[in-house]
Amino acid sequence: MRRLVATGLALAILGAAAMFAAADAWPWRRLEPVAATTPPGPTVRGWTTSDTLRQGETLGELFNRQGLGAVDLEAVVSLLGIDPRRLRAGQVFNFGHHDSATGPTDVTVRVRPDLETRVARSDDRWLAEERPIRWDRHPVRLEGRIVTSLYDAMTAATWSEEIDENDRIRLAWDLADVFAWAVDFTRDIQPDDRFAVVFEREVSERGETRLGRILASRLEVAGRRLAAFRFETPDGRAQYYDEEGTSLRRAFLRAPVEFRRIASGFSRSRKHPILGVWRRHQGIDYSAAAGTPVLAAGEGTVVSAGWSGGYGRMVELRHRSGITTRYAHLRGFAKDIRIGARVGQGEVIGYVGSTGLASGAHLHYEFRQSGVARDPNQVDLGNGEPVPADLRQPFLTERDRLRALLDPAPPTTSVAADGVAGDR
Ligand SMILES: [Zn+2]
Repeated sequence: MRRLVATGLALAILGAAAMFAAADAWPWRRLEPVAATTPPGPTVRGWTTSDTLRQGETLGELFNRQGLGAVDLEAVVSLLGIDPRRLRAGQVFNFGHHDSATGPTDVTVRVRPDLETRVARSDDRWLAEERPIRWDRHPVRLEGRIVTSLYDAMTAATWSEEIDENDRIRLAWDLADVFAWAVDFTRDIQPDDRFAVVFEREVSERGETRLGRILASRLEVAGRRLAAFRFETPDGRAQYYDEEGTSLRRAFLRAPVEFRRIASGFSRSRKHPILGVWRRHQGIDYSAAAGTPVLAAGEGTVVSAGWSGGYGRMVELRHRSGITTRYAHLRGFAKDIRIGARVGQGEVIGYVGSTGLASGAHLHYEFRQSGVARDPNQVDLGNGEPVPADLRQPFLTERDRLRALLDPAPPTTSVAADGVAGDR
């Protein structure tokens, strides 16, 4: 982004560095703060100034610096529809001037990524005007080899000029989310696994960029070939489906923790790292930094949340069909996690720790069917829901469109050779 500023897009971008929400929630690339500008000489009629809210500064102080009094502040703030207490340092305001004898005649603020509000003085009143900011979506295809993790694979891909590190991390996460029911990225990844993904890169009319949605992806993981195609039903809900139109969604996630690395897989017996004796290990240990969110593997009810001997702080969930899951050695529980609470799939229930008999921060995860511990990665979770019958044709059309983006075919290969002809 610094380079963009340096190459002369600065003016287009200056008005866009606004940051209303928490910095990490702001959806486009963060820009350098804009320096306050001073009016030109008295012969010029009509100019603009930009100013940036500084650390610890109130909006009143900024407006005062720009020649707007308390009465104007109140009117402008209410018309902009912003809460001055929630403003963050870095928020940019643009001021229009017509005559150096009076204060600014208009104030423009980017209130949302896709909306700018301009409040202009008209006689003794202020009037607001909204300006939508257009964002265009461009599909970007990326493929590569996975060596240690999705993130590493994306870092290694040759597009770092286009997508910064934050976006690469987010893309890796988003892709892991797409396949969260099929792949445990903490332990299924092997050298020479491959991925291809088509995602949207969004560009605003101001030249800002941000990462959009994942449209389609292919994974070759541990000898399995998986595909995902985003399809939105008319009610606006989107899901990922495989080539045949089966939803990737399942009753349980493959891994109940953000993927990092895994210390120890499921085995019939192993040497306990602390007790120093061989005993059956009833679950999977996910090594992760202390504090990493632990997710409910499936929808269910909390049957226990508290201290449980060697398990340390543990949450146990009951699900349908006599299945229970346990999450142990937690540092702490998420808010509202108590006996009887309902949790949704993927909901944060606690945080990785090392309470109880644990040699280091990790999550111990158990999957039990009728009280018997099972290897969660060997459990057959059945098929996902098929795309509704009346939407099958629209799905196939969309799948073929995305497949053309995902697998740019050699000129001589017809699409029908790739399975479309044999489709049901
Ligand atoms: Zn364990």
